[in-house]
Amino acid sequence: MTQPPAGASTLPPYSGPDVDCPKCGASGATTEHRPARDAIFLPWNPAVRVDGPQPERMFRRCSSCGYGWNEAPLDAEPCRAVAAVDVGGLEDIQRVVAERLAARGGLR
Ligand SMILES: [Zn+2]
Repeated sequence: MTQPPAGASTLPPYSGPDVDCPKCGASGATTEHRPARDAIFLPWNPAVRVDGPQPERMFRRCSSCGYGWNEAPLDAEPCRAVAAVDVGGLEDIQRVVAERLAARGGLR
């Protein structure tokens, strides 16, 4: 079995109780803590993966439309690439990732 990613999270940080829904724009969402878990396979056919592994996360659900999304817990280790560029923007993240890939000789 594949283990869920340990430590570093690629989820956006927890946005608090008064977050605006990314789908309908309504303010307010419920929050449910969900621990990290392994991938899920069909019980009657373990060769079929239903869903990939998930990190520890805060599941948010819009109070108006019911749309759900995941955010990182407050104590989650930040994504190393994002932390390295001090959240300067997508171009900065892409540049840092390209530099680090080049420095170690590309993808392994
Ligand atoms: Zn909504």
